[in-house]
This record gives sequence, structure tokens and C-alpha cells, in this order.
Amino acid sequence: MVRLTVLGSGDAFGSGGRLHSAYLVESPHATFLLECGPTVLQGLKRAGRDAGAIDFVLVSHLHGDHFGGLPFLFMEYRYERERTRPLTVYGPPDTERRAKALFAALYAKPASEPLRHPLHWERLTPGRKRTIGAVAVTPFAVPHVSDLVSLGFLLEVGGKTILYSGDSAWTEEFVERSRGVDLFLCECSTYETRLDIHVSYPEIAARAAELGCRRLVLSHLGREPLRRLADVNLECAQDGMTLDL
Ligand SMILES: [Zn+2]
Repeated sequence: MVRLTVLGSGDAFGSGGRLHSAYLVESPHATFLLECGPTVLQGLKRAGRDAGAIDFVLVSHLHGDHFGGLPFLFMEYRYERERTRPLTVYGPPDTERRAKALFAALYAKPASEPLRHPLHWERLTPGRKRTIGAVAVTPFAVPHVSDLVSLGFLLEVGGKTILYSGDSAWTEEFVERSRGVDLFLCECSTYETRLDIHVSYPEIAARAAELGCRRLVLSHLGREPLRRLADVNLECAQDGMTLDL
């Protein structure tokens, strides 16, 4: 079985008191984090999950609500849940430099000292499929902000497929890529406000019938969709929710 646990289903602003983006994917041969927002440790501990079980981390783009938890994860492995086995962080260009600078800003002394575990950084290139142990990751570029490479992911794990939008405006690519996947985890940041960097609820609601996924779950929920949940007819993520595929 493949289980995705929603550790954080909120947007950058913690709308509705929800935690920042982070999802734990557990399968018989691999356990990994999809996103590592600043509240990742709260999410893991509320869900009763062991940070030591995480084999690797995938980051979609370099906004704080998606990668700002890396220093806290490193602190956890240093002081609370001692780790000696290697950890690899996969992300877009500049992930290593930005995350190291963040660690240094938050915890200057620990960041200047060697970690107890080897730490590797791997750059993901849109369109280039990677095999990471028992997991196949196909990153693809999504339309988010112009100053960053922002990725969505098609994940193949334990015989199941997960499409993840990352943070993105609506793109027709989601219709094509969702065909046949077991889960499409799509961001939905706004309702009445239309932006060219995020999906609004009416945009995805209008196209939901065309998506060929077995299950569609909205996440990265902002204050507008949360305020209008009574008008939202698609399944929404909640912090702590488990999705068994
Ligand atoms: Zn975000």
C-alpha cells in the first residue's frame, strides 16, 4: 500500500490555522517528504510519524512555505532523532545555496558545524525523469512566479502514481498529465480572486470532470476557498489526513 499523509495543507499565510506545505509518502520500499514547509516537524509529530524514516526530500520550488522546514529537519536529526544515514534533498536550481543560507540565518552555530549524517543535494531538471531508489520522479515546469523554476511532479511509487501540481497557475498540462493517475494533489489557493500564479477553485471545478485521475484532492488552501468550503464540491485536504492509494 502507498499512503500519503497531509502534514500541511495551508498556503504561505497559514490560512485557517493550517500548517505549511508538506506531505509524507510511505510505501513498502520508500518513505519520503514531498515539500518541507517550516512547520514540517509539527506536522510529523501531530501525525505520529518518525522523521528518521524519511529517505529523501523533494522540494518543488524555493518559496519559504515549501522549503523553509529544511533547517528544522536538520536540527531534528542533530539533536532529537539522531541520524547517521545519508539524506538527499532534491529540488530546483539553487536549492542547496538557498537552504544553506537559511540554515545559517536561523541557527548560525549548528549550521557551521558538520551534520551527523551525510547530506546530498540533487538538482532536478524539468522533463528529466529520475529514479530514486524505488521511486520514479518526473519533474515538470509549472507556471508560477517568473523569478523561480517551479516544478510539479509525477511520482511513481509502489505501483501507484501521484500527480502533484506544486504551486502553479492552472495549466492544460494538468488535464493531460492527470490521465490514469491514482491521485492528483492540486493546489487551490484562491476562490474569487484570479491570479496568474495560483489555481482558483472555479478554474479547477470547471475542468474537474475532464481530469482522468482516480482521486482529486485540493490542497495549499488559501483563505478564500476555506471561507467558502460550503461552495466547494471537490475533496479538500486537511492537516493530518491520510490518503491510501
Ligand atoms: Zn506555496
